[in-house]
Amino acid sequence: MAMAKIRLCVDHALGAGQSLPLTEAQAHYLFGVMREGVGARILVFNGRDGEWLAEVTEAGKRKGRLICIERTRAQSTPTDLWLLFAPVKKARTDFIVEKAVELGVSRLVPVSTEFTNSERLRRDKAEAHMREAAEQCGALCLPEVDEVTPLSRLLAGWDPARRILWADEARAGAGVTIAGLGPGPWSILIGPEGGFSDEERARLAALPFVVPVSLGPRILRAETAAVAAITLWQAHLGDWR
Ligand code: SAH
Repeated sequence: MAMAKIRLCVDHALGAGQSLPLTEAQAHYLFGVMREGVGARILVFNGRDGEWLAEVTEAGKRKGRLICIERTRAQSTPTDLWLLFAPVKKARTDFIVEKAVELGVSRLVPVSTEFTNSERLRRDKAEAHMREAAEQCGALCLPEVDEVTPLSRLLAGWDPARRILWADEARAGAGVTIAGLGPGPWSILIGPEGGFSDEERARLAALPFVVPVSLGPRILRAETAAVAAITLWQAHLGDWR
């Protein structure tokens, strides 16, 4: 039997017999793009109530409705991993946000650093990217997204129980690797294209909860560094084990 493939992230509560209105964008996607119609079965999730099989009961150009049939997966708690990153250019930030969802980050903390390009993080856009990524990768929850916060302020109020794995480009190739690190909670800090300033580097190096790490002998772009660091962390300490 063919399995339902399309997954939609919805805001509504999910439960047996629950009727779910679709947004205009979801109706367009399901009926216009995917050519589904009444009777089609898809999967829905909302980050709280697990994943449910649902059936289309109304299909219009701009609206539609589903009914929840049965739960296909229980809600799981996400792996506890925060990503602190300096927003970079738009397309590259979108990439970081998307990959963070696919690789299982639970919270996105955009930070502004001395060399951060002044670009802001559009949270509505980031959320749309996260939903799409979660729909296609089978995730059951979306990371939380914070407002952009200056790194200095974040460090001043930091809970020392959560360590920061600091990807420090100055240690590229210095052999400071992630192997041997103990369990978390953890967060990962990736700098902007311009890297960290001397002042920031001195401050980070002096903090007991900050653990510097090298991501190999080459200087990576910020978005590559984010993917590489999350991958290493997931393989050593996270949900890939
Ligand atoms: N312009 C800087 C590089 C910044 S790279 C320079 O030329 O030195 C962007 C971010 O990616 C860095 O701040 C760091 O967090 C991370 N990064 C890139 N390559 C790295 C490496 N080999 N080791 C550790 N972190 C790295």
